[in-house]
Amino acid sequence: MIRFEHVSKRYPDGTTAVDDLSFEVAEGELITLVGPSGCGKTTTMKMVNRLIEPTAGRILLDGADIAGVDPVKLRRRIGYVIQQVGLFPHKTVLENTATVPHLLGWQRRRSRERAAELLHLVGLDPSVYGDRYPDQLSGGQRQRVGVARALAADPPVLLMDEPFGAVDPVVREHLQNEFLKLQEQVRKTVLFVTHDIEEAVRLGDRIAVYGQGRIEQFDAPAAVLGAPATPYVADFVGADRGLKRLSVTRIEPGDLEKPPIVHLDDTLGSAARRMAADDARWAVVLDHDDSLHGWLSADATESGAAGTVRDHARRMEAWLPVGSSLKHAFSTMLQYDAGWIAVLDGERFLGVLTPARLHEALRRSIDADVRAVDRADVDLDTVHSP
Ligand code: ADP
Ligand code: MG
Repeated sequence: MIRFEHVSKRYPDGTTAVDDLSFEVAEGELITLVGPSGCGKTTTMKMVNRLIEPTAGRILLDGADIAGVDPVKLRRRIGYVIQQVGLFPHKTVLENTATVPHLLGWQRRRSRERAAELLHLVGLDPSVYGDRYPDQLSGGQRQRVGVARALAADPPVLLMDEPFGAVDPVVREHLQNEFLKLQEQVRKTVLFVTHDIEEAVRLGDRIAVYGQGRIEQFDAPAAVLGAPATPYVADFVGADRGLKRLSVTRIEPGDLEKPPIVHLDDTLGSAARRMAADDARWAVVLDHDDSLHGWLSADATESGAAGTVRDHARRMEAWLPVGSSLKHAFSTMLQYDAGWIAVLDGERFLGVLTPARLHEALRRSIDADVRAVDRADVDLDTVHSP
């Protein structure tokens, strides 16, 4: 889809911003470009929509050298989102979003319908926000409008240059999650620039880690964290990469412990037998349609009390959907001061995650990466000039 072949950019003052860059991005892939300030990320990005021309090498879009494509036509196929969103202050949110369709000469009605559809897609109700002006929005909402506007003409490629850099960390995480959901629907080919390794890891299908003007490693996030290719990358991803890995490793059903299960209407006697059979000190309590109610301690059954599980069960608030990150699981454990948390698939109870299982899941992801890296097929040197 996008292919860099030995691309360099030397500015007239002699600065080499990008040095002999070769890589390929597949259709529908989200690549994050990460590295410290001044390493050439923005230069890389602007060469794709020809805001900057390379001084050597070439860039192909869908197999065609972009040097031969009219820049205006090229940019219609490439959405561009930057940090200072650049919304027109005197235009409403709806008008801002409809900018590109309008420029393309779509009929007013169609442009506005498309804009409304996109505002929905980025989580802004057009009937609430459509007629507002940019200064009547929060920073996070403005970024959403920026994303909606870039998507308006449905370009196959999206360039995003530190789009969430200016918002606070909480809003930022929201925007990242929303963007991931959005990307699942729209499947654009995305180049996403950030200087934040955490963001790169969370969003990227693959990450290009930049050193000075060069890519030091181009790999899946877990591989970058698990097996940094150079000391530079190891240093950049940081000593706390075990923690970062928590945020890219998902809970899988196989990670879960299966404690005994009892139901609200079971008698205490039968609950006690169930726990004794598993030599367990507690059981998970489900209600009649198998959704999570809470837990029952073996102590409650040993007091010889009569009655049903319902009378002695305790509510359990801490639960997570399957597929959540281990980081989310860990912080939920801390938040509820819980030794375990239930994992649900929709309403259905799957099992519980304990600190020991969390640790095992982490090990599993490290081992998987080390194997993946052994047979890595991502090799920058395989890109040849024809
Ligand atoms: P990043 O986006 O990673 O912070 P840039 O691509 O903006 O980095 O810049 C890469 C290098 O090129 C930096 O050293 C920067 O100072 C230099 N640079 C960027 N634009 C120009 C320019 N127009 N003229 C000269 N040097 C530039
Ligand atoms: Mg930059």
